Amino acid sequence: MKKTGYQSLRCGLLGEHLGHSFSPQIHRELADYEYRLIELAPDELAGFLTGDGYDALNVTIPYKKAVIPYLDELSDEAQRIGAVNTIVRRDGKKYGYNTDYFGFDSLITHSQIPVAGKKVLVLGTGGASLTVQAVLADRGAGEITVISRNGADNYGNLDRHTDAEVIVNATPVGMYPNNGVSPVSLRRFPRCEGVLDLIYNPARTALLLEAEELGIPAENGLYMLVAQAASACGFFTGSPVGSDAVEQITAGIALDTQNIILIGMPGCGKSTVGREIARISGRPFVDADEEFVRRYSVTPADVITGEGEERFRQMEHTVLCELSKKSGYVISCGGGAVTREENYAPLHQNGVILFLQRELSRLSTDGRPLSKGRSAEELYRERIDAYRRFADLEITSTEVVEKTATAALDAIARRQIPERQV
Ligand code: NAP
Repeated sequence: MKKTGYQSLRCGLLGEHLGHSFSPQIHRELADYEYRLIELAPDELAGFLTGDGYDALNVTIPYKKAVIPYLDELSDEAQRIGAVNTIVRRDGKKYGYNTDYFGFDSLITHSQIPVAGKKVLVLGTGGASLTVQAVLADRGAGEITVISRNGADNYGNLDRHTDAEVIVNATPVGMYPNNGVSPVSLRRFPRCEGVLDLIYNPARTALLLEAEELGIPAENGLYMLVAQAASACGFFTGSPVGSDAVEQITAGIALDTQNIILIGMPGCGKSTVGREIARISGRPFVDADEEFVRRYSVTPADVITGEGEERFRQMEHTVLCELSKKSGYVISCGGGAVTREENYAPLHQNGVILFLQRELSRLSTDGRPLSKGRSAEELYRERIDAYRRFADLEITSTEVVEKTATAALDAIARRQIPERQV
């Protein structure tokens, strides 16, 4: 499936600050050409683009417009949108394309959210919004309304548009590290039948979590990201990439970047099994109780004894919100994390939640103040509904840690295949 025979092709991603980009990983899976990150200051752009140091490029913020004067020809989409994210040198000329157009078009197909004839609200007016608007127009959207903080249609007069049927978030609101905020409340749009969020970190923004809660079909931006890269790969190599490769790479990245979160009764072995899952899968591990101590320099037991359970739960919530912004971690939660409903959204936003079951007679009670005074049976009866409400998967401890961890990883991989909607 991976394209081979392109080792001599020098490709890369051009931008100013690239940070942690998924693009090298995606392109590595698409083809065997060289793909590097090229961070340039604005005054270095001209020298680089007119030089001979590359064969093909992706371009990102803030250079999607700035590269245009250096190109010989633009594709129709690039011309219409006024932005280029793919450059290819061919026959002594430089060609510019906008593969975000194909990325968003593919995302609509993948999501199965119909847009033809629908009233669509597009949030934001940046480069991504222009691409979204071009695709929606070409797909025959009935009415496209762009919401801007400073425009005629803005967040203060959304009441004009409560009849919106599809909502597209093309703003960075809710994107890591500012997780948990949403540009609009979907409850204002009773006719909404689909939500597309271009953000892919976290996997479920606050907007997508609300869509999930309301039963509205929704999709994040990861598929778009992979589809635009696949389209660029087609231009780089001259041979198109099939949609099955896009599906597969998207599923792989979703699996690698999600957190594996363990919940379960105190003393059921979450930390031990979590550490083993981390070892086998090569992920970092973090124990929420240890993180609590690192953050507050006091143990959960001391807070519970000194200030009461309510204060402890507030502090624990802050810790869980921070931890669950991470990607690709194994996170072991305290046994009572499920007793606060507000912990669900942060844990779920980027994670698969695993409920680890263990025979009650085998639970360890060492140093666990909440277990004192109440039997394991009582606690279990109190919490079982909440564990099940939070959990995506339930695993029973086999008492052989490695076996339990392997079973958990197998169950997660099996679950990932059919999961498409966020
Ligand atoms: P941008 O130019 O930085 O921002 C887009 C627009 O969002 C702005 O023009 C602004 O519109 C609005 N906005 C910014 N901050 C806001 C805030 N605090 N509250 C409300 N609105 C705000 O970004 P972009 O390049 O268009 O990208 C937008 C989003 O799409 C980003 O999250 C980006 O990561 C994502 N994206 C994803 C893909 C993908 O492949 N999945 C591709 C491209 C972009 P107004 O000033 O008019 O309100």
